[in-house]
Amino acid sequence: MKRWLLPRERVERLTQITPSWLRERGLEGLIIDLDNTLVPYGSPPPASAEIAEWRDALARAGIPVCIVSNAKIARTRNWAEELLMPGWGLAGKPLPWGMRRALRAMGLPAAKVAAAGDQLFTDVLGANLVGAYSVLVEPLEPKKGLPHTRWVRALEQRILNSQREGNAPWKHTTIIKLLR
Ligand SMILES: [Mg+2]
Repeated sequence: MKRWLLPRERVERLTQITPSWLRERGLEGLIIDLDNTLVPYGSPPPASAEIAEWRDALARAGIPVCIVSNAKIARTRNWAEELLMPGWGLAGKPLPWGMRRALRAMGLPAAKVAAAGDQLFTDVLGANLVGAYSVLVEPLEPKKGLPHTRWVRALEQRILNSQREGNAPWKHTTIIKLLR
């Protein structure tokens, strides 16, 4: 059975996903989350020099990048314009429509695309549902967030720990254990 909630790979920073990183994995495109993945939650443009250089390197290599975010439409559009890439807000991840739209825009099959984000229940699950190469990025600001977000983070950590311990996170017995 497919491990819907588990990432194919984990990285500490989004900027570790470089043209050579993608090429080594047979990937040709990249879908990215916005808040806490690309930039700190709620922060406005302009982009840092590090992000701008990272974006330029991907562009020079001819790798299409799209933002697919659950953030507001205007906020996502501002960042997409800043980074000269397509972007869609209110994507409703983990529902697949936003990611599918990005795949169509890139003209690539999901199997050739990495989809990176900081949350299991939206970014990783959404990537796995469309068949993209899911990448979990360490959240830029792990300690910030609403009580609800902190609870979700704790649950995510348990799921990731269970992966390490070899439990199957999709089994309902494991899920009950995780929720305790
Ligand atoms: Mg995020």
